[in-house]
Amino acid sequence: MKSIMQRKDGTCYLCRKLHKDYSRKVTHCHHVIFGTANRKLSEKYGLKVYLCPYHHEYGPEAVHLNAAIANELKAEAQETFEKTFPALSWMQIFGKNYIDRPEKSVATPQQTENVEKTSADRLSGIIFLEGNY
Ligand SMILES: [Zn+2]
Ligand SMILES: [Zn+2]
Repeated sequence: MKSIMQRKDGTCYLCRKLHKDYSRKVTHCHHVIFGTANRKLSEKYGLKVYLCPYHHEYGPEAVHLNAAIANELKAEAQETFEKTFPALSWMQIFGKNYIDRPEKSVATPQQTENVEKTSADRLSGIIFLEGNY
């Protein structure tokens, strides 16, 4: 799959993003979500960018050395993925959220459920007496 994040035009994704440097250079293809299984998934969904050697492996801003930069790219990959494949679930495929969005409260629906259960239990007691249980 071709990259859904960047057209291959000889520029480095991070040179452009971080330094507004649009010049052409030698670039490596970097799989944004890397690691054994994820690399294949990155390939499958086009989560790839082209990076100069400095931004790929060798400089202080290299994705393979700088976790903050790597995570920024992962968040961008997730965003682009969700826009490109709205029918697919990122979490189901990659199992990890990289976008810093406010947590939707998980506690509230559970609490509601508990409240409902409690009143349902009370109700079922009445129903039981009526012989419908
Ligand atoms: Zn670069
Ligand atoms: Zn790489």
